[in-house]
Amino acid sequence: MTHRELLAFRDSLLKARADLIAAGDFEVRAELDTPVPSSRDQDEAPLVEMSQSIASARNRERGERLAKVDEVLQRISSEPETIGLCAECQEAIPARRLQLMPFATHCVPCQSTAEVNPHGPGRRKIMDYR
Ligand SMILES: [Zn+2]
Repeated sequence: MTHRELLAFRDSLLKARADLIAAGDFEVRAELDTPVPSSRDQDEAPLVEMSQSIASARNRERGERLAKVDEVLQRISSEPETIGLCAECQEAIPARRLQLMPFATHCVPCQSTAEVNPHGPGRRKIMDYR
């Protein structure tokens, strides 16, 4: 990656970061604006619990992306030579993939391999049903 490409890439990362943070603010505001049901609390409690767990799963996913973006941003200054290279096979990640997913750390073939052999037990369960 040339210095100019690196600067453009850094811009797209900063934009992705701002989007992630903006999405977080929106969700927090939406939660605060939602009226808390005062009566019928017994009936509605399971629904509230469900939407809260969906919201926290989204927050977790966004938090993970934000952490990846921050990690790549840090690497731009600490190890710029590794930017745009797959962490697994060291091949260049296609520019188009980086445009869509600036926080991508693996090329498509390596990412697919990682998804077939998931680290977490959750995805393995989903595969079992196929
Ligand atoms: Zn790779």
